Amino acid sequence: MAKSFATFGFRPELMQGIQDLYYKEPTPIQEEAIPLIMEGKDVIGQAQTGTGKTAAFMLPILNGLQEGKRDIQALILTPTRELSVQIAREVEKLGKHMGVNVLSLHGGTDIERQLSKLKDTVQIVVGTPGRVLDHMKRGSLHFGRISTLVLDEADKMMEMGFLEDVEQVIVHTPNQRQVLLFSATMPDSVKRLAHRFMKQPPHIKIEGKQKTVERIEQFYYVVNQSDKTDALVDVLEQEQPYLTIIFANTQVRVQQLTARLQENGLQAQALYGDLSQRKREQLMKQFREIRFQYLIATDIAARGLDVEGVTHVINYDLPNDVESYIHRVGRTGRAGERGKAISLISPRQKNLMARFAKATKATIEERILEPGRHLDAGRRQRAEEREAHYAALRQQQAKEEQQQKEKEFAPVREALKKKVKVKPGYKKKLARELAELQTQYEKNRKRAEAIAARKAGKSAKSGGPSKAGKGKPGSRGNGNRGSR
Ligand code: AMP
Repeated sequence: MAKSFATFGFRPELMQGIQDLYYKEPTPIQEEAIPLIMEGKDVIGQAQTGTGKTAAFMLPILNGLQEGKRDIQALILTPTRELSVQIAREVEKLGKHMGVNVLSLHGGTDIERQLSKLKDTVQIVVGTPGRVLDHMKRGSLHFGRISTLVLDEADKMMEMGFLEDVEQVIVHTPNQRQVLLFSATMPDSVKRLAHRFMKQPPHIKIEGKQKTVERIEQFYYVVNQSDKTDALVDVLEQEQPYLTIIFANTQVRVQQLTARLQENGLQAQALYGDLSQRKREQLMKQFREIRFQYLIATDIAARGLDVEGVTHVINYDLPNDVESYIHRVGRTGRAGERGKAISLISPRQKNLMARFAKATKATIEERILEPGRHLDAGRRQRAEEREAHYAALRQQQAKEEQQQKEKEFAPVREALKKKVKVKPGYKKKLARELAELQTQYEKNRKRAEAIAARKAGKSAKSGGPSKAGKGKPGSRGNGNRGSR
């Protein structure tokens, strides 16, 4: 087995590219896959991102490029545009001293601009299946002479419904091309695809998960939903991260969180699927250049992101499935660096967290959050707001009770006020009736209060303050008694 890149017999220009990137030795997937690919075999590589799989297929492709050939020599299909851009970038870096031309085709960018680029000789094309097919149908791209076809993250492509597009692309490539398939998992759909289009491929399986996760310290804090943003800002102040990716589950939550962090003076930007391709690329460039520190993203936008210097990944919202958790966590601890993955969860999500720990064979410990200045201030403010809310509610109830009382006593008062000639004892009788009415009213009110208090006692056990608050207005109502 190869222990150093030198044993593969790569061209010197390619070795220079590897050195520029400071890759010291091949990763396990590279060690196993590169010799087989160089022999010209079709290969299935089962490996997660973060294992070095891109270079595992890219190095032999670059090494085998034929100089002077004017045709596209390799086609790489990927599930997302981010991954496509990223692979193209890695090709450019590795092939820097070879004068290689790589083109990333993906949805969302101006097709004409991409086509004009095709006038130069392009040796390698990377793209999502839909966009590649688009070019194929227009006749703007010809894959009739490619030597290698790579299906990267094949399971994701199947998951995203690309099967038909992928098949169509494959059948338009020459029969004798080499097919390399990389996939984190091997569902039946991927096996069928491999069976149909690959020639007895060896299957290399790398248990990359544990390796990646080992370098990543994982823990979580249990926090209330209303405390989450303040808790997050405190965590960020305590952790002092370098670059951080923060995941939220929806576009709206990403936008809201970004706005809140910006209000707190943090350099945060939002990345989500609906942004234009240009904007997304621009944001990623700025993030890589450390022009801002916090990238707030949804899963779909962050798929395949590989940014050096991401020291922290934070799950502001917890994902629902293990795959997403692994994917998110894998955005840190890249290329041998250490990283931290921190999740903010509700008490109910502890079970889900335990599932993630089991699936990743990692220890994800619960830590108690020391409230910092933001959480303290936030909690105080929310308590004040709550108190003001209930005070207003009590006032409103007292007012309504007073109005009700007025309504009930109005006829008697009217009668008392009227300067009608009545028998001498009649006014006294009316006053007595009024007193009786008031006594009866008080009795009813106390009974209602007692019932409300009993109910509040029950609900207080389940933590609801609202009913307990309801008991009080009555006592205020007392003070109004006989105000006229
Ligand atoms: P990938 O699995 O292709 O997403 O690669 C994960 C990361 O590992 C990328 O940042 C690569 O640049 C980096 N990488 C690939 N091969 C090596 C290597 N042999 N040594 C160190 N880092 C590597």
